[in-house]
Amino acid sequence: PDALAVEDLRKRYGANEALKGVDLTVGEGELVGLLGPNGAGKSTLVKIACGLVQQTSGSAAVAGAPAGSLPANRSLGYLAELFRFPDWLAADELLQLHQKLVESRGGAAERRELLELVGLGEVPDRRVGQMSKGMQQRLGIAQAMLGEPKLLMLDEPTSALDPAGRRTVRELLETLRSRGVAVLLNSHLLSEVELVCDRVVMIARGEVVAAGAPEELSRAG
Ligand code: ADP
Ligand code: ADP
Repeated sequence: PDALAVEDLRKRYGANEALKGVDLTVGEGELVGLLGPNGAGKSTLVKIACGLVQQTSGSAAVAGAPAGSLPANRSLGYLAELFRFPDWLAADELLQLHQKLVESRGGAAERRELLELVGLGEVPDRRVGQMSKGMQQRLGIAQAMLGEPKLLMLDEPTSALDPAGRRTVRELLETLRSRGVAVLLNSHLLSEVELVCDRVVMIARGEVVAAGAPEELSRAG
């Protein structure tokens, strides 16, 4: 099944229609950018996929299971935009804590492998407070990868980073793709998503207004 399959998804908050019938798929191992201005409905879509918000109608499935169900939640990893980890926790401790939360049995081997994957293999004892924003973002991605999710959802993963941090996160996304993890990343900047995504879906006022390869969309302006 697709990592994420969204069909005719609608969400109303009172009189405000945040999603007006959105269709979207993220295939296995595909890297898709969800692009749109503030208020477009990006977070609402991600929250529905994570089971944090209930849709008004339509369907959302993660790796073939209805969004919000236990199998769906086990198949996804999520990193919020303005996440904050406690300053005093070491990288490895943070992952250990999250392994308990997601009931991962990967143990020390899983933590070591993920820290290496995100380029923190040399500094497992570094505390969050001693890390640059870019390192924290990479640690956040490692945390979201615990338990081998099929779909990784990243909310504005580069917005808080300097150019060097952005570059390392982009390289990391390439690495994830080469491992077959599907990624849906939220952004309000085409310049960010076009560099890494296979496909971009643009949404505005709760509707998909364009979708395609990043080159096609930048050409269309
Ligand atoms: P984006 O992530 O693209 O900025 P959101 O999904 O956060 O967009 O918001 C889409 C629309 O839904 C906005 O008009 C926003 O104000 C509204 N909205 C989002 N969450 C809520 C909520 N919990 N209650 C009421 N309205 C909301
Ligand atoms: P983002 O777009 O980064 O998700 P927002 O500022 O849209 O951030 O939303 C922050 C929080 O406030 C979210 O939990 C969202 O669901 C909620 N929210 C957004 N708009 C409204 C609204 N009009 N009424 C109530 N809650 C809202």
